[in-house]
Parts: sequence; C-alpha cells; structure tokens
Amino acid sequence: MSAPAFARLPHPNPTAQDARAAAIADPAFGRVFTDHMVSIRYAEGKGWHDAQVMPRGPLLLDPATAVLHYAQEIFEGLKAYRLDDGAMALFRVEANAARFNASARRMAMAELPEELFIEAVKQIVRVDADWFPQVEGGALYLRPFMYASEVFLGVKPAAEYHFLVIASPVGNYFKSGAPAVSLWVSEDYTRAAPGGTGAAKCGGNYAASLVAQQQAIAKGHDQVVFLDAAEHRWIEELGGMNMFFVFADGSLVTPPLTGSILPGITRDAIMTLARDAGLTVREEPYAIDQWQADAESGRLTESFACGTAAVVTPVGKVARGAGSFTIGAGGPGQVTAMLKEKLVDIQRGRAADPHGWVTRL
Ligand code: PMP
Repeated sequence: MSAPAFARLPHPNPTAQDARAAAIADPAFGRVFTDHMVSIRYAEGKGWHDAQVMPRGPLLLDPATAVLHYAQEIFEGLKAYRLDDGAMALFRVEANAARFNASARRMAMAELPEELFIEAVKQIVRVDADWFPQVEGGALYLRPFMYASEVFLGVKPAAEYHFLVIASPVGNYFKSGAPAVSLWVSEDYTRAAPGGTGAAKCGGNYAASLVAQQQAIAKGHDQVVFLDAAEHRWIEELGGMNMFFVFADGSLVTPPLTGSILPGITRDAIMTLARDAGLTVREEPYAIDQWQADAESGRLTESFACGTAAVVTPVGKVARGAGSFTIGAGGPGQVTAMLKEKLVDIQRGRAADPHGWVTRL
C-alpha cells in the first residue's frame, strides 16, 4: 500500500497577524491552537486514505461512534522547535511514530506507517510555521491522535479509524521555568496494572489518573507519584512524566519498563546523556520507603521528573500518608540542571547532536 498524498485545503479565514501575535506572546499550555490540522482516514480493506491538511475545526461525530463508548483512542505528544539559527526542527519524531504504533497494537487499532506519521507532523509544522512563540522555552506542541471512528455499538476492534494532528504554541510548562515541584504519593489509587495499558499512550490511562491528581492538588501538591499496582511499594511514574533518582555517589536510577510505565522518549534521552557524561544509570525497581530513607540519610541527593511538556523538573518535596520528606535542599540540584541543559542544548541546536535526534525541516 502506498502512502496517500496530502491534499491541501485552503483556509477561508486564517487568524489575522495581530491576533496571532497576541495569541503566541504568552501562550498557556494547550489552550491556543494553530489554524490547521492534518486528517487521515483508515478503513479495513481500503487502508489509509483521504490525507488532508485542512482548516482546524470541530469534528462531527455520530453518537454511536465507537470511541465515545469504549475509548479506543491513542495519542502522542512532541514539540517542534525553532533552532537558534532560525530553522525549524523536530526532536526524535521517529521515536514518537514507533511508540504510536506500539500503542495502536496494544489497543487493537490499525497501525499508521511511520513515514506517514512523520510526514503528517512535518506538514502541520510547515503550514503553521508562523505560530512558533517567540518566548524563551517556546515551541509548537504537536498532538497526533487517533480514535475509533466506526459507527457501531459492539465491543470489538473498530474497522475504521481517524488520525489527526493538531498544534498548540506553548511556552515553559511551569511559568517560572523549572521550580522544584511537590509530589503526593498516591496510596489509594494506581494508574496501571501488570498486563494493563500503562505502557500505551491511550486516553483511558489519563482518565484513570485524574482523581489521584485531584487528591494531590487538594492536599496542596503539584503532581502524583504512582506506585505499582501489585505491591503498592515500587515507584512507577507521575501522571505524565518519568522519574529519576540521583545518588551521592553520582549514579542515577530510573524504574525499569515493566509494562505499566510509559516508555518516555525524554527518559531514554536522559539515560543516554547521563551515560555520555560518565554517570552510571541503572534501570531498577526503587521502593517508596527506600526513597524516603535515602533522602533522609543523604544517600540520595536529587530527584527529577522528565517528559516532553515540562522537559526536566526537579522534585523538592514528597508527601504521603506516613509523612513527608525533602529532597536535598528542596530546590533544583546540580546533576538535574546539568542534564536538562545538555538536553535543551541539543533540542535548540546549540550543541552537537551525536545521536541524530534532531530532524530539521
Ligand atoms: N509518562 C507518562 C504517563 C506520560 O504521559 C509522558 C508524556 N508523554 C511521559 C511519561 C514522558 O514521555 P515523553 O518523554 O515521551 O514525553
């Protein structure tokens, strides 16, 4: 099957230049969107077809559309950057394309050829190139997603899917750059179980995490730490970021990909950059009680969370039913700052790209 060519539908009413300038001067994460979207359809027997770059607008859905009932839906999140030399670039887009298909397989959905995913992402960045925010830390956040579009109330994999990409100009995820966040350890709720969908980027995982996040906010914290579902003992990840632990001996630990953790692309990049810097990185289970004991004894000096949206975020404080503890001095640590800088320098084209992570457009 050859990949469909993209039809380009003219926009009858694009955002005026001054309104766009105002919209991107101080973008709130995920609230402002660009003028276009990419849309590709899939049907069993027909394959992928009807690829379009079109004006962004509402979707008209039959009330019996499968996704509205059984949540067969997956998504990705990545950023397009303006490099310091003015070129536009994507960071590790191939990894997002591969993870998208891993999610599709887990949710029994049609896989999208990776080159089609990448081309769709490039198309929206090119057509909405005027939407890059000028602010420090700014980027175009890209949201490829796919839902079961078949109109049928039966519990079975759908025979039709709709893939779309939308884009949102974003600034720094945290307004003041990267303050140290405060975490709440959820002992009442888990996010993903062995054999479940934790390693897939499907909407249902996020729906399942919301009540725990609500609880964390109500208790005055920023984010939730989820523990494993079987023993409620091992640290897994946050609602939308992976975790790293930094020790006084200079080594790093991150929880292994057991199937209930999302394989973060930032996580993978951080492991590589830490090893490049001569640090030892171990993927091994780390228990919540051990975290507290190590923070209190000084064996552990820093902890941080990482992901596309917030990049690298230091953890200052951790609270749980059994009390709270502080990480290091409660603020950003040196290893955290060093790894963040290395990552951002590659993403912005300020440093060499020895692993071929940056695709210029
Ligand atoms: N864990 C979860 C649950 C996430 O949603 C994300 C964001 N995609 C991450 C980790 C970090 O993944 P990445 O570095 O690929 O953004």
